Amino acid sequence: MPADAVEAAMAILQSGRLHRYNVASGETAEAALLEQEFAAYTGARYCLSVTSGGYALATALRAIGVSAGDKVLTNAFTLAPVPGAIASVGAEPVLVEITDDLTIDLDDLGAKAEASGARVLMLSLMRGHLPDMTALMARANALGLTVIEDCAHTMGASWDGTPSGRFGAVGCFSTQTYKHMNSGEGGFLISDDADLIARATVLSGSYMLYDRHIAGPDAEVFETIRLETPNCSGRMDNLRAAILRPQLRALDANRVRWNERYRAIETRLTGNPHVVLRRRPDSEQFVGSSIQLRLPTFSAHQVSAVIAQCAARGVELKWFGPDEPVAFTSRHVSWRYMPNQDLPMTDRVLATLLDMRLPLTFSLADCALIGSIISEEVSSVA
Ligand SMILES: *Cc1c(COP(=O)(O)O)cnc(C)c1O
Repeated sequence: MPADAVEAAMAILQSGRLHRYNVASGETAEAALLEQEFAAYTGARYCLSVTSGGYALATALRAIGVSAGDKVLTNAFTLAPVPGAIASVGAEPVLVEITDDLTIDLDDLGAKAEASGARVLMLSLMRGHLPDMTALMARANALGLTVIEDCAHTMGASWDGTPSGRFGAVGCFSTQTYKHMNSGEGGFLISDDADLIARATVLSGSYMLYDRHIAGPDAEVFETIRLETPNCSGRMDNLRAAILRPQLRALDANRVRWNERYRAIETRLTGNPHVVLRRRPDSEQFVGSSIQLRLPTFSAHQVSAVIAQCAARGVELKWFGPDEPVAFTSRHVSWRYMPNQDLPMTDRVLATLLDMRLPLTFSLADCALIGSIISEEVSSVA
């Protein structure tokens, strides 16, 4: 936590005004300032801050009118809060296959959109891998799909210069500890759609105080929305906003630091004939806060051996392939609240997919060593 964030937190604690609508006369709340700054950072007209990334996703669904019984498309390689957000509004996730590049398969998207009749795609940019966003949006538009972007791992990333979160109708972000800014819990919605953000604002629990937002729509937009929209409290508070504002100022510099770490590991793995890394497209300005490697010729037994041997040398890898979900990592077969879905392409990719977060507390030398250890253990198992 940067020193200026700790200082800002202390100032809020001393004021006691933690609730975003509890402002002294002439004062603008930290939460409102944060929204203004995140809107400016992404180029969005509007921004709303909320309690979590998952809450942002569920609120986006409600704000675009998804209701109980609707079907919502989402790529099958994602984290549990994404299908969870869909389930939270009573809708049913329809899972779409992924490619070897870990991004959504556009042919399967077309097939599932037509078969299900779904009108909404919740595109999870899982582990920061952007598909060709131009092609994706062209396909989504042709299919008549409204796109919600799950940018939990792409805060600070862009495609051909357009920030992630600015392609769909709404972009959702997380500021949970393991993402690119850390407020423990937290999230954002960004959009250019005034009605959508007005509904999201009232949903988030604005009461009739929405005019205290400075990155929100004009008061007229709320005229009927404020009376027709339920309050489902999920507001950002000033303490978390205060510690996020300095982190937003550091985000671009941190992206450079993450990518140096990513490249340091990638370099050590590139020559290994058993390891497949995604070739990052030139159009993709990514944030290398984690790295994924595939061992496509390995059996489950061999993948387990690599994980065990790396762990014995202090390198902890996550695997998307095991039958039992572990820690943060689960896959579609564990989400039994939805109908079981047949996803052979995704299962094949996940069966040999290993994953590691790259916290900025790792030095470049740490990363080089980690890359060497993984490469050595992969070769030894092979
Ligand atoms: C973390 C995460 C979320 C949800 O964020 P929370 O703030 O933890 O609710 C959504 N999608 C992905 C891919 C995530 O990793």
